[in-house]
Amino acid sequence: MNREDKYIQVREKILDWYKENKRDYPWRKSRSLFQILITEILLQKTIALNVKNIYNDFFTKYKDFSTINNADITKLQSDIKGLGLSNKRARILKELSHMIITDYEGKIPHDPEILRKINGIAEYVSNAFVCFGLNHRTFFFDVNIKRFIQRVFKSQDVKIKTVIIYSDLDKLLPKTDFKNMYWAILDFGNKICSKNNPKCELCPISDKCLYF
Ligand code: SF4
Repeated sequence: MNREDKYIQVREKILDWYKENKRDYPWRKSRSLFQILITEILLQKTIALNVKNIYNDFFTKYKDFSTINNADITKLQSDIKGLGLSNKRARILKELSHMIITDYEGKIPHDPEILRKINGIAEYVSNAFVCFGLNHRTFFFDVNIKRFIQRVFKSQDVKIKTVIIYSDLDKLLPKTDFKNMYWAILDFGNKICSKNNPKCELCPISDKCLYF
């Protein structure tokens, strides 16, 4: 098996696994760019279940950037306190909403560089928004995606740089079904290839995994 074949086989197995094992989150079905971008900020440094728990109430109360821009920051902090880091998160939401209302007439700029002008919005959030919201095949990773790539494709003692992870994602992501592949890796990292005690005995790609 050459190296490119391995990426394709891992991709197909993980997408098959995802069909049967996907987690059900409302933001994966949303078509609202506002909700998709705000959700990526809510998801930072917390577990997805926490976001799921406040998702409906939050978006019932905060319907657009204008609502967040006009909201009392103490109230906003209180509405997201279950996620942790509520002061920082509320500040990011307020600054982002203010920029979009005052500089972009309430429409989200599609250039991720512009989103990254907000202190606290980095490559993951901005590129994930472009991927999930605008349907562009961008590259981004968190600790779960990085762990998956390291375990399956790399020596465990090698420190992998961002450029290498992006190159691996380029080989791994399908040309069109890239959103499902990202969600599949995240769910696989949660249910099977977890940080501690990965369930290698249940893993559909153990025969391709360097860690195994
Ligand atoms: Fe993760 Fe184990 Fe599967 Fe490798 S074999 S991908 S370490 S669960």
